[in-house]
Amino acid sequence: MKKKIRFFQSVNFKIAIAFILLLLISIEIIGAYFIRELEQNTITDFENLTNAQVESLAKNLTDELEKSDVSRTEANENIRKVLDDFVSSDTLEARVVDDRGLVRATTDLTKQNDVGKKNDLKDLNDFSNSRKKEIIDSGKRVWINIEPIYSSTGTTPIGVLYVRSNIESRYNDVNDVALIFFTASLIAGAVSIVVAVLIARSITRPIDEMKEQALRIARGDYSGKVKVYGQDELGQLAETFNALSEQIEETQDAMEAERNRLDSVLSHMNDGVIATDRRGKVIIINEMAMDLLSVTSEEALGQSILKLLDIEEDYTLRKLLEEPGEILIDFAEKEISEDFILKVDFSMIRRESGFISGLVCVLHDVTEQEKNEKERRDFVSNVSHELRTPLTSMRSYIEALSDGAWENPEVAPSFLKVTLEETDRMIRMINDLLNLSRMDAGNTQLQTEYVNFNELVNFVLDRFDMIVQNEEDPRKKYVIKREFTTRALWVEVDTDKIIQVLDNIMNNAIKYSPDGGVITCTLIETHNNVIFSVRDQGLGIPKKDLNKIFERFYRVDKARSRAQGGTGLGLAISKEVMKAHGGDIWVTSEEGRGSAFYISLPYEPYEEDWWE
Ligand code: ADP
Repeated sequence: MKKKIRFFQSVNFKIAIAFILLLLISIEIIGAYFIRELEQNTITDFENLTNAQVESLAKNLTDELEKSDVSRTEANENIRKVLDDFVSSDTLEARVVDDRGLVRATTDLTKQNDVGKKNDLKDLNDFSNSRKKEIIDSGKRVWINIEPIYSSTGTTPIGVLYVRSNIESRYNDVNDVALIFFTASLIAGAVSIVVAVLIARSITRPIDEMKEQALRIARGDYSGKVKVYGQDELGQLAETFNALSEQIEETQDAMEAERNRLDSVLSHMNDGVIATDRRGKVIIINEMAMDLLSVTSEEALGQSILKLLDIEEDYTLRKLLEEPGEILIDFAEKEISEDFILKVDFSMIRRESGFISGLVCVLHDVTEQEKNEKERRDFVSNVSHELRTPLTSMRSYIEALSDGAWENPEVAPSFLKVTLEETDRMIRMINDLLNLSRMDAGNTQLQTEYVNFNELVNFVLDRFDMIVQNEEDPRKKYVIKREFTTRALWVEVDTDKIIQVLDNIMNNAIKYSPDGGVITCTLIETHNNVIFSVRDQGLGIPKKDLNKIFERFYRVDKARSRAQGGTGLGLAISKEVMKAHGGDIWVTSEEGRGSAFYISLPYEPYEEDWWE
């Protein structure tokens, strides 16, 4: 993530180089201009001064050249004196030549022999006008003045003055100054490099620190602060940066807290929640959803929602997005798992801009709900069916009676008896249904009292003994065997309702034991339950029906049950009654060999001295 900046790309380098270049350019411009001006001024001054001096010297020499009262040698010496007075350190040679072309005097000590001889300098053959020029003489610059010397009358030249001056030294002076300037600029350059680097670093250091801090923030570390070096723009930037990083941290914290809250809400929800991205890939899945779908988060995350819910065949993502809503997935149908129905609510996640960013699915296990719903539907159809059967048979008997059978004394009484029996059965069934529906609605208040359960059971069984003894049909011989604990078991029950349960179990034992046999009734206590069981030697119940016989209207053999006047509701009512008492009812059976029904009631054994 962090790209290394090469030195030549750095702001540090750029600022330093800009600084130095600026400095060098200004020094160069100033230097060039200054040196040129200096050179011009120095040389022009020198030339002007020399010219003026030479001119005035030429005038001074008129007298000496015109003098005729002295000998030539004397005159020459005088001229030489005038020349010597004039000579300065810059003068290389001053020479006077007269109108006959003879050298009258020269300041050059090496050329004293030329005095009185013919002049050998070509330039001096013409002395009609004054001339000045710069020449190079043996590698050095020399300033030449040739000035005619006029007679006192002022018109005819009577000689010429020749002066050679050393101008090279002036140039050297200028060069010296230029050298000093050059050295100074080198020093200034060197110093400016140091200063530029320092200034550049003072600018880039806070920027560097801010860069580092930004990288730390990107990594999620908010602990650092950028140092504020001053109140300039960079200082203000650093302060703003610090404030910004604090704000980001706060926002991050708030988001984190929000996320945690959401996470804990999601994980504690009783519904499964799945969120997907735009392409339907799972991005969030909570514990409950993983449980419901039996997947791990690794398996689910990134997986397509259609695949995860196994609805690829019936739905497309487009369809879910276009018509979000509720669907039912029956996993039993898909043979994935037994009895498992999921309700999935789809809703779209839409941003304010209208952009669809995904789906949220809420999963709800509705197996129980759907089962109840199915039971309710089955119940209604069962009730109608159960009531229709006796009504149809009654209708046919009554029809036969009204068609004239009432006059037939042989059939009429039996027809009427059947009708009466069917009516009784319907009344029983309706009473049972009413009972059940009261219990379903939770409207039945148990009229509980403490009873000695041993006595209660004995009371019921005594009644059955009586029936057995008075039984007319000799084939049906029952023996009711009692295996009771000797200890008195006091329980808190609704006596009428418990008697109803006991009656029902005993009746069934007799009903479904066509060949009679022993009916063994056992009463025992466990640590906190009283258990009463009734074991017969009758038909027994096939294994597959064992769980179902407590359902409403369920009968193993409908015809047999009806023939015995059964409604198929007895065990369903018994179950509700036991549930209301906080007890239970269950069955074990072996087909063809008999069944055993058990009921249990909660029981707290009392200390013996409780009654004393
Ligand atoms: P029913 O009015 O048909 O007896 P119940 O609810 O009392 O209704 O019983 C439901 C079904 O359970 C009966 O139809 C019968 O098939 C079965 N059943 C109950 N008790 C016994 C038993 N002791 N032996 C065999 N089958 C029994």
